[in-house]
Amino acid sequence: MKKLSGRGVYGAVAIGTASVFRRHCTSVCCTHIDDTEGEIKRAQAAKELAVSQLSEIYEKVSCEAGEAAAQIIELHMMMLEDDDYNKSIESIIRTQKINAEYAVKLTCDSFSKMFSSMEDDYMHQRAADVKDISGRLIGCLSGNGYESTDSAEQLIICADDLAPSETALLDKSRVLAFVTASGSVNSHTAILAAGMNIPAVVNVGDDLLNLVRDGDRLIVDGGTGDIIIGADEQTEREYFLKGEEYARRKALLLELKGKPDMTKDGRKINIFANISSTDGISAALENDAGGIGLFRSEFLFLESSSYPTEEKQFTAYRQVLESMKGKKVIIRTLDIGADKRADYFQLEREENPALGLRAVRLCLKRRDIFITHLRALYRASVYGKLSIMFPMITSVSEVEKCLEACEEAKRGLKADGIPYSGDVTLGIMIETPAAAVISDLLAPLVDFFSVGTNDLTQYTLACDRQNPALEEFADTRHEAVMRLIRLSAENAHKCGIKIGICGELAADTSLTENFIRMGIDELSVSPPYILNVRKKVRSLDLS
Ligand code: PEP
Ligand code: MG
Repeated sequence: MKKLSGRGVYGAVAIGTASVFRRHCTSVCCTHIDDTEGEIKRAQAAKELAVSQLSEIYEKVSCEAGEAAAQIIELHMMMLEDDDYNKSIESIIRTQKINAEYAVKLTCDSFSKMFSSMEDDYMHQRAADVKDISGRLIGCLSGNGYESTDSAEQLIICADDLAPSETALLDKSRVLAFVTASGSVNSHTAILAAGMNIPAVVNVGDDLLNLVRDGDRLIVDGGTGDIIIGADEQTEREYFLKGEEYARRKALLLELKGKPDMTKDGRKINIFANISSTDGISAALENDAGGIGLFRSEFLFLESSSYPTEEKQFTAYRQVLESMKGKKVIIRTLDIGADKRADYFQLEREENPALGLRAVRLCLKRRDIFITHLRALYRASVYGKLSIMFPMITSVSEVEKCLEACEEAKRGLKADGIPYSGDVTLGIMIETPAAAVISDLLAPLVDFFSVGTNDLTQYTLACDRQNPALEEFADTRHEAVMRLIRLSAENAHKCGIKIGICGELAADTSLTENFIRMGIDELSVSPPYILNVRKKVRSLDLS
């Protein structure tokens, strides 16, 4: 039995089987080959092995999860046998005289690009399948037992780190917990895990991947950050009971459902939910969210292998608005860039991506993507109470340009005879020191502010939020951060607009009283934290 520890992200215990996360087609080296016919035979043998692995998995899944669930594996077997796919690999080996692994990678790149560019939704989704079968094939060629998403078992995913796009693409119904060697508690992956009610531990260190192997039995305590490998029966029992205790504490909070979010002296505070996809709606409703304070719209883009169409975006936004039945829904416009990268945006490599072309900066430069996005939002606005919020604002002119883009999107819809609501409110995130400092100039332009404490802390304290080594310096309660929030609240209220907090700090109940005294009107948190914040708000008397 071995014990590791990291930073716990979400208090719950998972006990199950480890699966080491391997990236598809990324770290494949290209080498020169003289014996091309021998290399082609090696590729064919690997294909036979991959097909036989899949047929075993097919049998297992169809027994355990039924024929429908097994269909995807059957499709993967067919794709591996596909003539065009195999001919492409052979021809690359023969003409370019390179190793089979690299030929598979090049074929994977070109086939997945072709599928991604297709309009048809079904064909479009095949891009992920090509990557999956190619990853398996490369695993068979290089002797690594590639484990893809084909088994039906729920697994504990262990990785060096997970990019938000990688986390978004995992089949969440099959993830029992996340454990990463690096990563920080403010990373988007940690935020996603908490939002999905999945225990997660980050920053465990290199020992994680040195010690953990596929199939190992693991215990993950998302509260304390403990990871136990190969626990004995007694330890497993202890953690099982601890998991029950976490669950009991959460259950106790359920009696707060339906109760008003009001302090003892009668101050009403909106307690809303942060969600990253339509999957989060049910958690928001189960935890009695007063509305959605932050819908991270970029995850729809990160889950896709090409730009989601206006129709696809509209469908997602409409679903959130309809599900919230008239409660306020704040959808943040695309916050792509920095750690949230999608290949098809073809963003240039940047030395300091967090300070780079991200969020509204990217949208203002790629106006066509922005206008499509805004059209989808306005189209959805007739199905509920929509607010649109712009991230990463640093200047008055950016806000003016965003407002002008909204006008253009509305003009377009009007010309096309498509209805939209006249009641959409527009707000900005206060997540740069610049925005907080000029909040008096920004407030007259918009209907509300929402403070993004994750980025505000990163930029104020010059501490990369992705870097776990900076945790002792990235003090989220730093006086400088607090002053910027207070200043923004004062300027919001002078102008008669509301201000919320949607960064992770909103869930820190040791600060709730301070925030309310500063004049914060809304706290938006991951759904599992809503009732805890409600409990705190209801216990306060500020009179
Ligand atoms: C923030 O920066 O606090 C925020 C809410 O946005 P994100 O975490 O998505 O960057
Ligand atoms: Mg942010």
